[in-house]
Amino acid sequence: MLSGSLTATMKAVVFDEGSSWSLEQISIPVPGRGEVLLRPIRVGVCGTDEHLLHGGFIAKFPLIPGHEIVAEVAAYGDGTTGPAVGSEVVVDPTVFCGDCPSCKRGQPGYCASFGSLGCDRSGGFADYMIASASKIFPTGGLHPDIAVLTEPTACALHGVDVLALKPASDVLIFGAGPTGLILAQLLRMAGAARVTVAAPTASKLAVALKQGANHAVQIDRANPDAAAEELRRIAPEGFDAVIEATGSTSVLELGLSLTRNGGTVLVYGLAGENALAVVKPYEVFSRELTIKGSFAQANCIGRALFALQSGQISTAGIVTSVVNLDQFQTALDNLHDSEQIKSVVIPTRP
Ligand SMILES: [Zn+2]
Ligand SMILES: [Zn+2]
Repeated sequence: MLSGSLTATMKAVVFDEGSSWSLEQISIPVPGRGEVLLRPIRVGVCGTDEHLLHGGFIAKFPLIPGHEIVAEVAAYGDGTTGPAVGSEVVVDPTVFCGDCPSCKRGQPGYCASFGSLGCDRSGGFADYMIASASKIFPTGGLHPDIAVLTEPTACALHGVDVLALKPASDVLIFGAGPTGLILAQLLRMAGAARVTVAAPTASKLAVALKQGANHAVQIDRANPDAAAEELRRIAPEGFDAVIEATGSTSVLELGLSLTRNGGTVLVYGLAGENALAVVKPYEVFSRELTIKGSFAQANCIGRALFALQSGQISTAGIVTSVVNLDQFQTALDNLHDSEQIKSVVIPTRP
């Protein structure tokens, strides 16, 4: 199936038990019926990868991570067809069983055995990978530098679906990472008349403003009260919706206090599994607050790709670092560099 000139092994980043990882030379996987062999050409690095490295989320070791994937079709398994070999596709990494009560109710996002390429099975930080042929989407000529943001856009889109804004809403987003920046734009498409982004890093807030945010408020980590005051000045009655996209419990608590009566807080950021936030039931009751959550995405890849293809969502300024597999540690380190927004891996060619 592979041409004879190709070696039978490939490079892959492999996460192991005990928070360790290595670059390994392993066999190129062989696609079975219904599967496609892909050559990843851009793979985004995400905070989830770090959670996985330390055994969090749904990690299963050994693991080839990488779930934000643009790839070239290399070959199909027996009896399987799809976009032409050589064409560029975006991968929907989610895997649903199709058989559990949630799947049968048409709610695969709550699948009892929810899985994802790059999280509990092999993903894209490798020269080759396997995906289900039913989960690839032709990029339609969209540049891979933009297409690589499809999966984060799909997750943000799910958050927007969950939030279900009313037209002319006043929205506040905590966090100006890739997700916060994409959410800020999607929310404008979904009914926000004004979007305020609050985050600690000035350079990220500058990107948010360039992408159309109405207000950017810098949070001084040493003195978050100053930002809270500024946010209260912007929306004295509170915001219709507040999105917590940082994973910080204190930010979630602040967000609740900045929500208008009858408003909604969306928990989007990934907090530790055992993290606790203080919520006053009386406040939720008397101010009729709604607290919602948004987890991953299900079947949002096609729409996310369309949002990027339409040009309505700008990705300018989001990718701040491009590395190859040999430099994967740099990409991990970048997750702790507040000036970095998104790192992208271009795997080496065999
Ligand atoms: Zn991700
Ligand atoms: Zn299921």
